Amino acid sequence: MAEAFDVVVIGAGAAGLMCAITAGRRGRRVLVIEHANKPGKKILMSGGGRCNFTNTGTMPENFLSANPHYCKSALARYTPADFIAMVERHGIAYHEKELGQLFCDESSKQVVRMLLDECEAAGVRVEIGCSVEHVRQAEGGGFALRTSRGKFTAASLVVASGGLSIPSMGASGFGYRLAQQFGHAVLPTRAGLVPLTLSGTHLERLEGLSGVSLPVEASCNGASFRNAMLVTHRGLSGPSILQVSSYWQPGDALKLDLLPALDAEAFLREQRQARPDAELKTVLSEQLPKRFAQRLCEAWLPNRPMRQFNERELHDIATQLHHWPITASGTEGYRTAEVTLGGVDTRELSSATMESRRVPGLYFIGEVVDVTGWLGGYNFQWAWASGHAAGEVA
Ligand code: FAD
Repeated sequence: MAEAFDVVVIGAGAAGLMCAITAGRRGRRVLVIEHANKPGKKILMSGGGRCNFTNTGTMPENFLSANPHYCKSALARYTPADFIAMVERHGIAYHEKELGQLFCDESSKQVVRMLLDECEAAGVRVEIGCSVEHVRQAEGGGFALRTSRGKFTAASLVVASGGLSIPSMGASGFGYRLAQQFGHAVLPTRAGLVPLTLSGTHLERLEGLSGVSLPVEASCNGASFRNAMLVTHRGLSGPSILQVSSYWQPGDALKLDLLPALDAEAFLREQRQARPDAELKTVLSEQLPKRFAQRLCEAWLPNRPMRQFNERELHDIATQLHHWPITASGTEGYRTAEVTLGGVDTRELSSATMESRRVPGLYFIGEVVDVTGWLGGYNFQWAWASGHAAGEVA
């Protein structure tokens, strides 16, 4: 005999728990099914263990989607201030790191604890280590689920199973397959917020520089991010690179400005005038990490005393500094990606409720949907907002 629920949520991550809390508070009988051995594993590992749980400057422009308007309604109805109010109610201390990014002072465990406490208060049942074996539409409406813990029925089924990033944390393609089973289109997925890899001479020329960090402006396909870039043993990472990786696909041009705050040509001319005997690498070491400047002058730029450069040469050097000629060969993939781009096509979902337009009572929320935020707390804000939107009606 199947146990009956009003709402079954698949996935005890950020979106699923928020949806369950919201529906439970409305008096709905809610079950959350999680196949991993713990709820909220990605929350636990997020923000270096301190969970960057929202961004106070969240705007629809901070999200990538084939349908950029889709996220607007949910984000407007559950704002960063709403989540902050919950965090404060639970006495969790937090701070702003930079650019509106809010982190726990202590631990991301506190956010998971808060969500589970809220679930308990709302009467939500959470089944951990439970796998869904089969889902179908029930005769007479609703859904029938067969799981490793028995059979359940639900008037509403909410898919909150996340994306493909970090498979070792429980990520699966389950939500995409379920969407397709119910006739939904799934847009091609790829790794986002992910380090870029280099190959051949591009990588060889950076050998030994792993760990060097510098502020750059990284641009691709119309998006630009000014923040730190980190050289890794496989290529490039750091916030500016992670951000731009979501806009980059193999073959796309990447623009890396190594001196975004400076007019390099004017600076080089001034230096030639002021210190004609200083070598280029010495001059550049004042604006860039020393080891990086030296390597630039060994592998990319001619290193001579400043007085030996003519106008044309200074112009060419400045151009290379503002547009470092480096080509990414790929990304590190889902193994290290923070998010998955693409996913369930929003054109067949209601932007107000996240409900399927094809199958009444079926909802998709969080990362499984084709809405992906920038780095900086935006992805959790989407999870909270989309979870809340579905929880208000499911
Ligand atoms: P998830 O949190 O992935 O939850 C989905 C849940 O569904 C998981 O618990 C999974 O085990 C479960 N599941 C999957 N398949 C099944 C199945 N078949 N049956 C049952 N359960 C299933 N975002 C930020 O905003 N700030 C940050 O600081 C931040 N840091 C991050 C750090 C790392 C290392 C990573 C990988 C991501 C980070 N993110 C961050 C992104 C953020 O974690 C995700 O966008 C967010 O967790 C998505 O929430 P979700 O609920 O949709 O999916």
